[in-house]
Amino acid sequence: MKTCGGQAILLAVLLLFAVSCSKSPGIYRKTKPLMDTLVTITVVAGSDKEADAAIEKAFSVIERFGDKIDFFKETSELAAINRNAGVNPVKVSPETLGVIERAIYISGISDGAFDPTIGPEIKMWDFYKKIRPSDDAIRHNLSLVNYRNIIVNRDRSTVFLRKKGMLMDLGGIAKGYAADLALANLRQSGIGAGIVAAAGDIRAFGLKPDRTPWNVGIKNPRQKSDVDDLMATARLSNKAVSTSGDYERYFIEDGRRYHHILDPKTGYPAGQCRSVTVISDDGIFADGFTTAVFVLGPEKGMKLVRDSGVDAVIIDKDGVIHTTPGIKKMVTFEDGH
Ligand code: ADP
Ligand code: MG
Repeated sequence: MKTCGGQAILLAVLLLFAVSCSKSPGIYRKTKPLMDTLVTITVVAGSDKEADAAIEKAFSVIERFGDKIDFFKETSELAAINRNAGVNPVKVSPETLGVIERAIYISGISDGAFDPTIGPEIKMWDFYKKIRPSDDAIRHNLSLVNYRNIIVNRDRSTVFLRKKGMLMDLGGIAKGYAADLALANLRQSGIGAGIVAAAGDIRAFGLKPDRTPWNVGIKNPRQKSDVDDLMATARLSNKAVSTSGDYERYFIEDGRRYHHILDPKTGYPAGQCRSVTVISDDGIFADGFTTAVFVLGPEKGMKLVRDSGVDAVIIDKDGVIHTTPGIKKMVTFEDGH
């Protein structure tokens, strides 16, 4: 009897093993509105259940981070920093501190083309309601925009905005970092491959079940129709790709396009590019660089990406495509560029 029971158990184990071996991994995907945008997570997993549990955990990590750096949410760490501008340093979580430190770093290497203290300017624009601030108001608030007036104390984990009225806005970097966080969390859940896409800030890792890289579409900044029209496709594994464009949030008035990437030196939308795509190892840098390069324009922007060892595709204001040499290996253009 004993032997028989042992054999039955052995048979059951063997059967279970056979079932788990025969189940080939599939691709699972879910989308959720988070951080004021749509986040889509795609994973390679053995079952719907496994995928769902991992994706939901990753969504909650993004949600928690988003709550800390939400410009409009009174209880966020960012709102506390802004409320205390010119008054007190504010203690923040190591995560928020780390993001702010990296935002300051990108500001420095881009000579202030990226500047998270753009808040007093950006808050006066409304790209949905087509509200454009007066020239006077834009000029007046420029004195409040300067990343050098962000004082970080790492030992105390505090952040202080030196001048009253300053406002920090991490919108130019936060989604890329959220993709980094979600990816790390998926890995912790045992997921070996997938894509996290926070709108245009995307991180791919591992390979598809057929052992090929992931394909990530890059939008044409001037859509020919309502259907997403792709300009190029990037083949990626273990890379971050971010795209910023003047077509995301904008309005047109008197033939001029006003959009959400502002030049911190003028307070007006940056005018030298239509879109910038950056491919790098981390989401936070890909995201920060797209905004910085967009403001710098094709010449200075290309220099910055080359010096920083990341790859980029820049569509300038006239529609001319500029690329780093590394792009050829990863990106195929629709027009054969
Ligand atoms: P998207 O949000 O479309 O992905 P970006 O990554 O370029 O595009 O971020 C744009 C956002 O960054 C704006 O909505 C604003 O919150 C902020 N921002 C605008 N101009 C700058 C700038 N020069 N430096 C840093 N942040 C900026
Ligand atoms: Mg950005």
